[in-house]
Amino acid sequence: MNMHSSDVANKIFDAFAATSKSRYIFICNMWTDISRWSKRAVEFFGLPGEYMEGAANIWEEHIHPEDRKRYREAIDAVFSGHAKNFDMEYRAKDKNGNYVVCSGSAVVIDDDEGRPTYFAGTITNHGIIDNVDPTTNLYNLYEFLHALKIIRDRKMKVRVLLVGFKHFSDVNDVYGYSVGNDVMRQFGGELRDMVANKGAVYRMDGSKFAVCTYEMGIDEIKKLYGEIKEMARTSLSVNGNHIPMDTCGGAVIVEDFSTDEQSVLATARYALDASKNEKHGELVIVYNDADDTNKRNISLIHELRNSILDGCHEFYICYQPVVSAKTGRLTGMEALLRWKKEPYGDVPPGLFIPMLEKDTVFFELGNWILKQVMMDGKEFLKDRPDLTINVNISYTQLEHSEFRSKIVSLLANTGFPPEHLCLELTERCSFLNMDFLKNEVQFLKSYGIKIALDDFGTGFSSLNLLREIPVDCIKIDREFVKEIETNTVDQTIVKSVVQCANDLAVPVCIEGIENKELLTYMNKYEVSGYQGYFYSRPIIKEAFKQLSLYRK
Ligand code: C2E
Ligand code: MG
Ligand code: MG
Repeated sequence: MNMHSSDVANKIFDAFAATSKSRYIFICNMWTDISRWSKRAVEFFGLPGEYMEGAANIWEEHIHPEDRKRYREAIDAVFSGHAKNFDMEYRAKDKNGNYVVCSGSAVVIDDDEGRPTYFAGTITNHGIIDNVDPTTNLYNLYEFLHALKIIRDRKMKVRVLLVGFKHFSDVNDVYGYSVGNDVMRQFGGELRDMVANKGAVYRMDGSKFAVCTYEMGIDEIKKLYGEIKEMARTSLSVNGNHIPMDTCGGAVIVEDFSTDEQSVLATARYALDASKNEKHGELVIVYNDADDTNKRNISLIHELRNSILDGCHEFYICYQPVVSAKTGRLTGMEALLRWKKEPYGDVPPGLFIPMLEKDTVFFELGNWILKQVMMDGKEFLKDRPDLTINVNISYTQLEHSEFRSKIVSLLANTGFPPEHLCLELTERCSFLNMDFLKNEVQFLKSYGIKIALDDFGTGFSSLNLLREIPVDCIKIDREFVKEIETNTVDQTIVKSVVQCANDLAVPVCIEGIENKELLTYMNKYEVSGYQGYFYSRPIIKEAFKQLSLYRK
């Protein structure tokens, strides 16, 4: 196919190029290195023309310097025949010199003899995504952020109510995708009618909706949420079948808009999460007026986000020893994240991680942690080549499309041996699709990385996870052992879990060994590792190297 002469090919290209304002297409003849790009991309980024020779190099000039290396490696892999796909998110410079986030996705097309011939794909420009959701006809997340920005610029008050469903994926699973969309459309329509002219309604990511208002007071928002809950329970139906839905809701009351819109959204997400996981769908409200202590939440989230965007300087990692139950010798350590910033002081991870986990910036933080741990880990391994380093991984990191490539490139760049890395997953991973989770774990294990199940037994899915994924270690939470000497229920639970793990030949590590008495008591269980204040609290790398356990 010659791109200059083939009318049909050109017409198909034109048709696809015209289908979206924010998604561009390109096709490159790998033999001649001549490419054709959507006109819209040419205009937006100020490229030399629709037809370009050596487009990969021209495009590289537009890519943010920090993202160029990744881009170059992926492109080289394609053109040297080592990869058939290209999939990546990066920042690219438009014709005015502003960066927008883009995701590129492309494949190599072979000719009849199997020779790589065309490289074709799309580039999605997240900077100017269309602002209406096609399913519900409501404004989308981008428009929501835009509206918040305007409110902030005008220094107005705002209230945001985020509404989600408790088990929306069940609707898709049971009735199919199109029924799921129908439910979403009806709910969106009803919600818009209920809010009427008192605010604006947005369809957010996934199955979430937002109401943005500066007219409604707190009581009105509470009342509205009650009505929404009732509406979702009683008035949705598809093809005459009533579909009762359970909602959860999080609200943010912003009296003085001193932070930015992303922080308000992150706070609303945090409130929604708390409603879903801790309050059985009851409305959770975070206030931000002068005399409310919850004010810390929004400004804290704002500071945390900025801290991440600023290169994670205020974060640091502590390490806590893990020892062999049999010999008492150090076998490894767990990396635990810390954040310190005035006036907040030392904020514990149990508080700030749930606030950030759902935020887009969390992935950056997770990568920073992994990189830091691998670099510190190389130092540890020089002294003690037998150690394994555990790192906690959130399910939101795992579900990120770039997690795999990121971890592989971090291992390659730092030279950290993957067999000495153990990723700790918690039960929150069971939020992910099980097949997806299994695939991810399989991929990580194929590199030699180990997997541990953390906080085992604290939720409802421990056994299911144990059944579904091949883990290298189970960590029993401190909750089960802190009163074990007197609590017979805890004794029975720990005994059964240890027995079950031993039968499955999975090592068990007990957390929360705080003193000698507890250690002596625990010795009656057949476990392989201990962790706890008795050995050491989590401490920074330099202090860790001074531990007598480490130097033995
Ligand atoms: P976890 O992974 O179960 O970590 C163990 C927690 O128990 C740590 O709390 C540790 O300091 C504490 N601990 C250890 N031994 C004892 C003891 O003997 N007594 C008592 N009272 N506590 C003990 P920390 O550092 O506050 O971390 C809390 C949770 O935050 C972690 O629980 C983990 O779920 C999460 N977390 C910490 N760092 C990270 C991270 O880098 N990434 C992610 N995604 N989560 C992290
Ligand atoms: Mg852990
Ligand atoms: Mg744990």
